[in-house]
Amino acid sequence: MGRPWLRRLGVAVLVVAALTVAPPDASPAPACDWDQEFLAALRVRGEDPPDWTITPDADGPGAAWVDLETRTATVSRVVPCRHVRGVVTHEWLHLLQSRVYGAAAAVAEYRVHPDEMELVADCGALLLGSGYTPYVRRRGGCGAAELAEAVRLIAAVLVPAEGSKEPQVASPGAKLLQLDSNQQPFD
Ligand SMILES: [Zn+2]
Repeated sequence: MGRPWLRRLGVAVLVVAALTVAPPDASPAPACDWDQEFLAALRVRGEDPPDWTITPDADGPGAAWVDLETRTATVSRVVPCRHVRGVVTHEWLHLLQSRVYGAAAAVAEYRVHPDEMELVADCGALLLGSGYTPYVRRRGGCGAAELAEAVRLIAAVLVPAEGSKEPQVASPGAKLLQLDSNQQPFD
């Protein structure tokens, strides 16, 4: 993070993402089905719908959140339909933090460095094509350290560390994750 060229790399990634998410002006936006977006976002990450709760209101800590201890995610319907995939992807990165670090370590880390863990989750979502990354926008880009950590988390799903005792996402999710890289980013 201290080297200027590394900071420029993060900004460059953000600029490229901003250019690719601009929707074409001519065609009208297709109708957005909240539940379909939600289920599609889970499917593409190999997630089980029962681990994900939909709540009608923002009655928790925000519009969406993850319990790092129980590894469950909640998304409220206040999330605009066009941002559902991006929000689910961000929350999925939090689940990876818990799965890869271990639940207790992730909880402890979040107590000390919540901003850093949020930024890593957003940088991971950005890498996976999310067009809604408010933490990245607020910070002005992803630093090399955040990008590297996000890649490490995502890679842990694809290639579990040898001898790792932490349960990893099953391989069908990894296959879907690769397919997702060809998907148009969400606006
Ligand atoms: Zn978050």
